[in-house]
Amino acid sequence: MRAAVSLLTRLPLTTASSSSPRLSTFPLLHLRSLTVAASTSSSSSPYVTVPTQHQQPTDQLPSSETEGGTRRWRPMCLYHTQDRCTKMDDHTHLEKFNHDFAKDLRVNVVDAGRMSPQDMDYFLVLDLEGKVEILEFPVLLLDAKTLAVVDLFHRFVRPSQMSDQRINEYVEGKYGNFGVDRVWHDTAISFNDTVDQFEGWLKKHRLWVKEQGGQLDRAAFVTCGNWDLKTKIPQQCWVSRMKPPPYFVEWINLKDVYLNFYHRQAKGMMSMMSQLGIPVFGSHHLGIDDTKNITRVLQQMLIDGAHMRITARRKPEFPGGVQFFFEDRII
Ligand SMILES: [Zn+2]
Repeated sequence: MRAAVSLLTRLPLTTASSSSPRLSTFPLLHLRSLTVAASTSSSSSPYVTVPTQHQQPTDQLPSSETEGGTRRWRPMCLYHTQDRCTKMDDHTHLEKFNHDFAKDLRVNVVDAGRMSPQDMDYFLVLDLEGKVEILEFPVLLLDAKTLAVVDLFHRFVRPSQMSDQRINEYVEGKYGNFGVDRVWHDTAISFNDTVDQFEGWLKKHRLWVKEQGGQLDRAAFVTCGNWDLKTKIPQQCWVSRMKPPPYFVEWINLKDVYLNFYHRQAKGMMSMMSQLGIPVFGSHHLGIDDTKNITRVLQQMLIDGAHMRITARRKPEFPGGVQFFFEDRII
């Protein structure tokens, strides 16, 4: 028996007669009544590309949501997620792009009694992008009790050991598909600077203080798989000639908790979402969108009563060695 869950969703409504966005609230929409898919295409827009279509099964939505050119889902402004948007007073821009990163992630916990107490106060959902070097570093901070999104840290990351031509090809091949290669070039910073800024962000939220070192305080990383923290962070630290920060020592692999909680396998984010009946928002493999979708899986699991626990920890005595804590794991 699954616990009831509902979304408090603020739906942006645009009208032909007004240039300012009108916000309307449709509370208590059931999670599974929402199905939104978006596709993107290239555009000459200097800003992030607007998806060209929004597929919505209209029979599952209140009629008022689909009338008058209503747009129910908008792409994030990827300048804003990196604290770099200069168009916050431009109504046309605000109508095209979402500037509220928590918008798709509001939940109303109907049956809090079903939820398990957690070992930590916050979860840091992280989903890196970039196979050769890290290209994107998004982290969502989620309150473990209220399931509210507290903050977002998001940076595009510029590879440190590639030629400009190789970087251009690499970025075009990945982010060109989503129409966001321009914003990547406008904003990407080095991995070293990304880590510096991330540590400032952790300090602001009192989750880690550089001077004290050690592990995260009251928080744990949540990833979809072991690749991000087991493999990619150490690789990138080596390439960027920096010592791996101590807070990356352990993490929660959501797939392992999912397997041991629901007793069924899910190979990745998409299969977990499919099995739980959670609609996919945005573009798969755009890190910021994947992070939000993984957060939606995490929220659902917490509502269903899952207890999040550390699934893997690096062994300091064996460089490259990792200890796994669940016997049944997704390999
Ligand atoms: Zn913006």
